[in-house]
Amino acid sequence: MIPRTLFSSDHELFRDSVRKFLEQEAVPHHHQWEKDGHIDRALWNKAGEAGMLCSHIPEEYGGMAADFLYSTVVIEEIGRLGLTGIGFSLHSDIVAPYILHYGSEALKQRYLPKLVSGEMVTAIAMTEPGAGSDLQGVKTTAVLDGDEYVINGSKTFITNGWLADLVIVVAKTDPKAGAKGTSLFLVEASTPGFSKGKRLEKVGMKAQDTSELFFQDVRVPKENLLGQPGMGFAYLMQELPQERLTVGIGALASAEAALKWTLDYTRERKAFGKAVADFQNTRFKLAEMATEIQVGRVFIDRCLELHLQGKLDVPTAAMLKYWTTDLQCKVLDECVQLHGGYGFMWEYPIARAWADARVQRIYAGTNEIMKEIISRSLV
Ligand SMILES: Cc1cc2nc3c(=O)[nH]c(=O)nc-3n(C[C@H](O)[C@H](O)[C@H](O)COP(=O)(O)OP(=O)(O)OC[C@H]3O[C@@H](n4cnc5c(N)ncnc54)[C@H](O)[C@@H]3O)c2cc1C
Repeated sequence: MIPRTLFSSDHELFRDSVRKFLEQEAVPHHHQWEKDGHIDRALWNKAGEAGMLCSHIPEEYGGMAADFLYSTVVIEEIGRLGLTGIGFSLHSDIVAPYILHYGSEALKQRYLPKLVSGEMVTAIAMTEPGAGSDLQGVKTTAVLDGDEYVINGSKTFITNGWLADLVIVVAKTDPKAGAKGTSLFLVEASTPGFSKGKRLEKVGMKAQDTSELFFQDVRVPKENLLGQPGMGFAYLMQELPQERLTVGIGALASAEAALKWTLDYTRERKAFGKAVADFQNTRFKLAEMATEIQVGRVFIDRCLELHLQGKLDVPTAAMLKYWTTDLQCKVLDECVQLHGGYGFMWEYPIARAWADARVQRIYAGTNEIMKEIISRSLV
């Protein structure tokens, strides 16, 4: 195996503490959270206390000014344990950077410390019932009225949506201007006119709360606009490579865990008087998966290295997102097969990981959209 060289002993110490935290605070409850359709709100505060949220945020806003490898550690450990209900990465690595990079000083001071502590849970609301891949088709509007923007519209499939206290909302400030008429707003969940719909019932990631959100004459101070009006699309394009990297990191951690569970299972399980792992088909499947996971690991670690230097470009992040999530689904499917009927039983982590994996090819930009992005950079 090719050794990983990116992580220092400090990162590894942090990894140990994250793993212990998750084993103690999340693993025993995750099955119940799947039934509840959301994780325990208190986990957010505990994770904040443990330094697991928004570790990259500068110290003046309560963070640790840590490098992205600390976020990577959190994503990897959550992925390895199959704790797909926990939406920390979306909060820390997707939402918080928008506030940090485009929010005014007042917005950063007001919100970032609460994101770090877990006092506020966040979400980002781009998708609408009629617009997902085609974000230019967003119909939600934000109209300036005096010192306030008035927001009207609805969003769907929003991760952390039901627990969220603060949401970044993508809305049109100039509906005739296409992409250039899109803006981003911070909206507190307690604002009059903002309501949450039902938690959506999903095929997998059942402990992850995914909601509809509705905005009816929601008034937000004009200071809640992130950055400049009409720049929302440009900001999204700027931030999406990190989002796609986080998805890829989780995908590979999940595939690695599945391979390990399958190795353990096939060594134990007997058929025709020998271990399932002794059949040539099993050994070849395991060998193929280990090889492809190794290829993915080297690719991800190189992308991480580039990202730390601020050099991960949009097409490479798209390659990583599509290739690693395709690999995850392929590996998970093979692993279910090697578990036989037990692989289809919800009590087995492999069954849950298989169901949870499927959406990875759909959100954060579908894998077809990733191929569009890659091909545009080629031809
Ligand atoms: C569990 C879950 C969590 C999510 N979390 C969030 C969230 O937190 N925030 C948020 O804003 N959204 C979230 N989403 C929404 C997600 O990002 C969208 O579902 C996704 O972008 C696809 O959009 P769509 O569902 O409208 O599909 P569509 O855009 O209607 O796509 C349907 C099919 O057409 C294909 N297609 C579309 N356009 C093209 C094209 N140009 N070329 C080729 N094929 C194309 C797609 O690849 C897909 O296969 C989440 C979704 C799920 C399921």
